[in-house]
Amino acid sequence: MYKYRKRKNKKNKFIALVFVLLFLGQIVLFYHIEDSFIYSKFDNISSSFKNKFVQNDNNTKYANAAEKRPNEIIKNPPEKIEDYSSYEQFIVLENSSVLRSFTSLNEAYDFAREIKESIIIDRKDEKLVYSNFDRSILWNNDTKAGDLFLVNKWNNITSEYTLEEFVNLTAKRSKSINPRLENMLLDSKAYLDLSKLAEDVYADGIHNMLITSTYRPYVTQSHLFEARVQRLMDQQYDREEAIDIAAKVVAKPGTSEHQTGLAVDITTIDKNGNIHPLTGSFVNTNVGAWLKDNSWKYGFVIRYQEEKTNITGIIYEPWHLRYVGMPHAEIMYKLNYCLEEYLEYLAKEQHINYSAYNGIKYSIVYFDSISSPDLISTLKQKENIVSLSSDGKAGVILTLLNK
Ligand SMILES: [Zn+2]
Repeated sequence: MYKYRKRKNKKNKFIALVFVLLFLGQIVLFYHIEDSFIYSKFDNISSSFKNKFVQNDNNTKYANAAEKRPNEIIKNPPEKIEDYSSYEQFIVLENSSVLRSFTSLNEAYDFAREIKESIIIDRKDEKLVYSNFDRSILWNNDTKAGDLFLVNKWNNITSEYTLEEFVNLTAKRSKSINPRLENMLLDSKAYLDLSKLAEDVYADGIHNMLITSTYRPYVTQSHLFEARVQRLMDQQYDREEAIDIAAKVVAKPGTSEHQTGLAVDITTIDKNGNIHPLTGSFVNTNVGAWLKDNSWKYGFVIRYQEEKTNITGIIYEPWHLRYVGMPHAEIMYKLNYCLEEYLEYLAKEQHINYSAYNGIKYSIVYFDSISSPDLISTLKQKENIVSLSSDGKAGVILTLLNK
């Protein structure tokens, strides 16, 4: 019996390894194809641009294309620079949060090429001209991008979603930033505010804060999940049962908020290197109590509250912070909304004005889709964009400074 079990374990380990390698292979292949696709498109455009584009009034074909949804344009993007020549002004949305406007087509394309992912909107005609947001076909019903996007059991994140702009915490290690492991990655914008938070924690005389988990790629999630399934199968559960049981304790691949790079697990470490376990009692530690009262001021929320488990589908996790940015963190904290509730609230209200604790006034507008004509006309008028984010479904939330 012992021998048999041992051999089975070996076999299971081998299967798990093959599984992980297959995933890695797929990801490598995916990016290879993806990148060459994007670059070949832009290379064509820029080389033809060098030959100077000819003013062309025959734009009917691509005017139609511009009315399509972004993902349809991606599948069939206009081939020649001439096809864009009637558009006079462009807005490029970089990674869904930064907005730049251009009067020169050349400039817009160079920028778009640099950032790889962009949506170009013609401001004059208020039309969507081009989008290469094609990683997980952003901005359709599977849209996941921006600080507010929802990831939970019912709103998966695709295996293709990876961090574009990130900070490696190893390079940022300091008296206030203490990462548990090497090479922990975090979304750049979230890091910026986390570093302010950490400095203030330290300044308040709390010197035992430990960052235990940040970005967790899809492949790691599937590895963790599969390892748990295998362990249960070793205990004689069949695969289906094992998957059901594992899903209760480990996030199914694509359902972890850590894949967004916007989630951080924080705990404490004492002088002897003892780490406080990730349990509800963390809230009673000096760090846990500080985060509970103050993290919202830095754009973070305690994502999984005790009284919201039936909505979030996750147990109480006082150690798990999610970056949503300002003023959203403050509103969620003050109205006691979890992210699911807050997004529903925005969809219902459509437009709210909010004065934050630091005196900054914001305007938050909800749109049913990225191709909403209202959104495009708002983008045309407003210069004071704070952020643009998907709600994880079809909706889009635009946050503006209110002068
Ligand atoms: Zn977490």
